[in-house]
Amino acid sequence: MDSSPGHERPVSPGTDTACRGCFGGPEDGQGCSASARFAVTRYRDAALTVCPGHLGPSLLLARNLLWPPEIRLIR
Ligand SMILES: [Zn+2]
Repeated sequence: MDSSPGHERPVSPGTDTACRGCFGGPEDGQGCSASARFAVTRYRDAALTVCPGHLGPSLLLARNLLWPPEIRLIR
């Protein structure tokens, strides 16, 4: 497995990253118009970007999260 550091994908500046909601899937996040402030690392998918209000629920409900959670502040 590739565990070397420095492979994080930077979030493009100027991109208004939308909150993807609790589950990070297309079925969720439709009702949240906030922009994301946190990126939660997932092991089988792209990082889940969430607003502060969805950070807590996403840690409990989203699939494929690392545990303990790995959270980055993105803005
Ligand atoms: Zn949200």
